[in-house]
Amino acid sequence: MRIDLISIFPEFFDVLDLSLIGKAQREGRLAVHRHQLRDFSFDKHRSVDDTPTGGGAGMVMKPEPWALALEHVLTQAQPPAHAQSPDAEGLPTLIIPTPAGEVLTQHTAQQLARTEHLVFAPGRFEGIDQRLLDWAPQHFDVRPMSIGDYVLNGGESAVVVMVEAITRLIPGVLGNPESLAEESHAHGLLEYPVYTKPARWRGLDVPEILLSGDHAKIAAWRAQQQDVRTRKLRPDLWAKHVVAQEKNLT
Ligand code: SAM
Repeated sequence: MRIDLISIFPEFFDVLDLSLIGKAQREGRLAVHRHQLRDFSFDKHRSVDDTPTGGGAGMVMKPEPWALALEHVLTQAQPPAHAQSPDAEGLPTLIIPTPAGEVLTQHTAQQLARTEHLVFAPGRFEGIDQRLLDWAPQHFDVRPMSIGDYVLNGGESAVVVMVEAITRLIPGVLGNPESLAEESHAHGLLEYPVYTKPARWRGLDVPEILLSGDHAKIAAWRAQQQDVRTRKLRPDLWAKHVVAQEKNLT
């Protein structure tokens, strides 16, 4: 997978060189390219923002540097992405982090992990001029996306969250792919509680069944714990799970 990150703070993405995502880059499973948005602004101050048309507080990101940066990414990507099919299929995916976007879920992360080329355009200030979003579908499959119903100062931290959630699902990135199958949100439920050694710690015992060595009984206990935890901690997910199960039965 190729990932392009465009920002006025490209150094924000240095954390992606650490841990499993850094390793995935070094192993060639993932190529992450960072771009300084100001390199595509040609006025004296390399400015990327201006006052909001119609008045109001804050500043708005200008569309022109963004369009030039995105066109630069298209010419760099191999094979040239804009030479591909003119419909959304085959176009690189452009993720625009915004609190007004579709909230990222594990299901969406699974879909995005199967794409070949992701481009991220995180905003600052009051966000990016709407015309950039109106123009971009000519060249990209545009996905305005949020990481939750709250507002950040800028989209870079949202990008780090999204990149981590997506790239850990690329085959080979995680050491043990089995951990993906049972973890929270993989199938609509939360994961069961986990324990390690020692069996007794500060007067608290590991559930006895986990020490039994009976794999069938352990699996049944864990499945039951997934239900209990989901019902208690996330009744919204539990309600969806019940509806899905009823649908499967009919
Ligand atoms: N004025 C915008 C609004 O009310 O929708 C908020 C702009 S916010 C201060 C600046 C940037 O942070 C946004 O352009 C977006 O890239 C990013 N951002 C803020 N909250 C976010 C969220 N929940 N998810 C994803 N990106 C977010």
